[in-house]
Amino acid sequence: MSDIDTAAAARLADINARIAHAAGLAGRKAGEVELIAISKTHDAAAIAPLIAAGQASFGENRVQEAEGKWPALLAEKPVKLHLVGQLQSNKAREAVALFDAIHSVDRPSLIDALAKAIDAAGKRPDCFIQVNIGEEDQKGGCAIADLPAILKRAQDAGLPVAGLMAVPPLDVEAAPYFALLAKLAKRHGLAGLSMGMSTDFETAVMLGATHVRVGTALFGSRG
Ligand SMILES: *Cc1c(COP(=O)(O)O)cnc(C)c1O
Repeated sequence: MSDIDTAAAARLADINARIAHAAGLAGRKAGEVELIAISKTHDAAAIAPLIAAGQASFGENRVQEAEGKWPALLAEKPVKLHLVGQLQSNKAREAVALFDAIHSVDRPSLIDALAKAIDAAGKRPDCFIQVNIGEEDQKGGCAIADLPAILKRAQDAGLPVAGLMAVPPLDVEAAPYFALLAKLAKRHGLAGLSMGMSTDFETAVMLGATHVRVGTALFGSRG
């Protein structure tokens, strides 16, 4: 193994240990939490060492960027791919073709486009409804008040709804927002909770996250 590979493996082991510790504190099992390595902006040379170290789940925020680098990597070794960034309805078909999970379902037009793409592809990626949990302007996700209607629309359209996703406001304590998202998921009987990033994934795990999305802590800064 090269130095780069060893460093990547060490960072991955550290994150996995911290997830296991946080899960243990909350009386949960580490296996209940899926670590998604967010590889946006990083090239195949940065991603390959993590795959070699056993990481089996990756996330991207742009369909086009993912289409450029993942087919070759997937041909070497299949891993699970998550789309965590905002999705335009006219990219729904490409997204369904490439990704195993889509974390940014947040509006009726996108729900309809995804339902059509899923029917056509005969492939059913897990769908997370993204909630604008801090009610911020210009942030993806449906308003909290709209969640019941969006959820019903997605389920009526036949989307495989796995849970809820959120990105809390920056630079404030994330825990209350994680707790609120967990409460909403429970209220609607949804098992999946996609929350927690490099700076707060342990808090998210303690509050019930089933999917944490970690980029910087695994890959280093995006520059
Ligand atoms: C980039 C990104 C992440 C990872 O952020 P880090 O702070 O680098 O861990 C997680 N979720 C979403 C939606 C992102 O766009």
